[in-house]
Amino acid sequence: MSNAIDKYQEYVMSNVAKLQPIIVERARGAVITDSRGRDYIDCFAGISVVNAGHCNPEVTAAAKEQMDKLIHCCSYVYHVEPVAKLAELLAQITPGRLKKSFFANSGAEAVEGALKLAKIYTGKSEFIALETSFHGRTWGTLSVTGNSARKRRGGPFAPGIAFAPAPYAFRSTAEEGGDFGESCARSLERVLQFCTSGNVAAFIAEPVLGEGGIIVPPRNYFKEVKKILDKHDVLFIADEVQSGFGRTGKMFAIEHYGVEPDILTTAKGIADGFPLGAFTTRDEIAAAFRPGDHLSTFGGNPVCCAAAVANINFMLRENLSAKAQEDGDYILEKLNALKERFPIIGEVRGLGLMIGMELVGEDGLTPAPQQAEAVRDACLKMGVLVGVGSAYGNVVRIQPPLVITREQIDFALKSLEMALAEVVGKDSYTAEPVTAQATR
Ligand code: PMP
Repeated sequence: MSNAIDKYQEYVMSNVAKLQPIIVERARGAVITDSRGRDYIDCFAGISVVNAGHCNPEVTAAAKEQMDKLIHCCSYVYHVEPVAKLAELLAQITPGRLKKSFFANSGAEAVEGALKLAKIYTGKSEFIALETSFHGRTWGTLSVTGNSARKRRGGPFAPGIAFAPAPYAFRSTAEEGGDFGESCARSLERVLQFCTSGNVAAFIAEPVLGEGGIIVPPRNYFKEVKKILDKHDVLFIADEVQSGFGRTGKMFAIEHYGVEPDILTTAKGIADGFPLGAFTTRDEIAAAFRPGDHLSTFGGNPVCCAAAVANINFMLRENLSAKAQEDGDYILEKLNALKERFPIIGEVRGLGLMIGMELVGEDGLTPAPQQAEAVRDACLKMGVLVGVGSAYGNVVRIQPPLVITREQIDFALKSLEMALAEVVGKDSYTAEPVTAQATR
């Protein structure tokens, strides 16, 4: 076998329609370098993971130091310093009374644990989730995932799960009329009343839906929802696996909505690329777990936790959330200007550096997944990596490391514009408006 691409084909169950045709050799900050020495501006951050930048020197130093001391001994059998430090730090940075954490190895495991805890605490067994949501690839997390494309060939799934319409204004299936946030919340109440037996332990939702296509619920949505949940004694699990750790301009996206979840799940950005997941809750909910109810051999790995502590301290010191907010606003403004010129862009939306550009057909609504992929491919050729997602595969995702520089952002935006132009052809967009400066 000659190189990694051939060996992948022969030996790796990659399971994606098309692997990106590069061999990634190393990365630093927001730049990825391939095996031929070519640099790419990374606008996907390993699916929204390396928020503090690839191989952040403070994170790698902490991990290396820990590696020389202790790699594993099971953090649930013995006390380990980095686990204690990380749990304390999470209690400080998570909203409100959230305080106690359980550590797992991935987002899916964090969500699985949160679902189990909600059941044990409430003594109830059903769940409500959102259409177009994504919560992981294990059986339990797929069961609460609202997207048949992700669930394909894995069913039947867990019983007792109902789905409410996503607060997705561009393709709304929520109840008609009135304020959109309120009508989406009313739809949720209808699902609770008519699609469950009333024995609902929790509602699980991503504060910004990531895999569903960067769907940003209206600002009053979660407050309205929380009122309904409280009325029916249903817990709220905020899945911040993708939206957490500064990504949306706040440490956690739910802070934009002024709501305190009962359980918060995290992973991805928690340790800047080291595999770690967690769910965090209040004392009284955490106390529902009895000895033996939940455990993980690798969960709370000392090296990952040491990396997470360094990562979070770096984020706090550098105020990466504020930077994400500023850069995000800048990118949204530029992309909205592109939307005026490119009819293929149906909507641009996002919070902080969690941004989506939804591509559509001539009617302004039909999803355009092939074009989204073509834009990604064209960007790659120009030296920029972007993601593609949504239930229809038609949303270009821009989720760079939060340390990306303005110069790198401008390069990425220019490349994106050229990629769009290449994909739609020269008759399908308006040329850049001529500025007063240029005509003089
Ligand atoms: N929840 C959300 C919101 C996610 O975006 C993801 C991953 N894309 C997961 C859970 C699952 O995380 P993991 O792949 O680490 O299991």
